[in-house]
Amino acid sequence: MSSMLVLMFHGLEGAHSRATGYAADPHYTFPASRFGSLLDRLMSEGFSIGSARDLLSEKRTSPAVCLSFDDGDRSNFEEAFSLLQARGLTADFFINPGRVGSAGFMDWTQAKQMAEAGQSIQSHGQTHTYFTHLSPAALAEELRVSKAQIEQRLGTQVTLLAPPGGRAPKGLVPLARGLGYQAVLGSEPGVVTALSVSTPLPRVAVTAQHTEHQVLDWARGGNAALRGLRLRYQLLAGAKRLLGDQGYERLRASVLGAPA
Ligand SMILES: [Zn+2]
Repeated sequence: MSSMLVLMFHGLEGAHSRATGYAADPHYTFPASRFGSLLDRLMSEGFSIGSARDLLSEKRTSPAVCLSFDDGDRSNFEEAFSLLQARGLTADFFINPGRVGSAGFMDWTQAKQMAEAGQSIQSHGQTHTYFTHLSPAALAEELRVSKAQIEQRLGTQVTLLAPPGGRAPKGLVPLARGLGYQAVLGSEPGVVTALSVSTPLPRVAVTAQHTEHQVLDWARGGNAALRGLRLRYQLLAGAKRLLGDQGYERLRASVLGAPA
């Protein structure tokens, strides 16, 4: 397979989400207008663009850029959906059935509308509990129940899993594949070059601070352009191992001045 950059977004802030009183997380929210112009630039440069669901199963010769959204934020429906549909593009939306319909999140009617339009709705676990905090039995249950609920509610197949917070315990990929998922997308920065059956596929988080220009650089330059981000990720992963999840979240909150 030719190389594939998988982008990870969370919320998008724009006129529609602001009109309904959207409270944006300042770190993770990306401006909707910048998302639209980024799509236009990527399309004009000839990248194959779309959901990992669609692009992983296609035979391609050109490099691809996949679009994914974590958490099922309601701005995914209010902002991202129309920007994608207007361009004939799909994205993967990783949702937690246990949070669908609660304040700040999409509801099932919205998710269904997106699925019927061809968007890819996938599993981010059932409750957004970090998988590293679950017993093996509880982890298997999160994977099984979230997949079953999305499939039953939307009538579409769930083939992808993104672990909350990118926390992937050892053995997650074989477990997920055994339960009917085709691939697991993590959050270690990098470019996908093969469909791994043992480790999560890399993804690159796009946050408020990132410009269109930077994302284009990653798409053109691949792992070489992502070297800085990869190094930073490895340092943070080392801190997580040393401090544990809770100690790490406290450190992160004090450094970023924002809740994790
Ligand atoms: Zn999440």
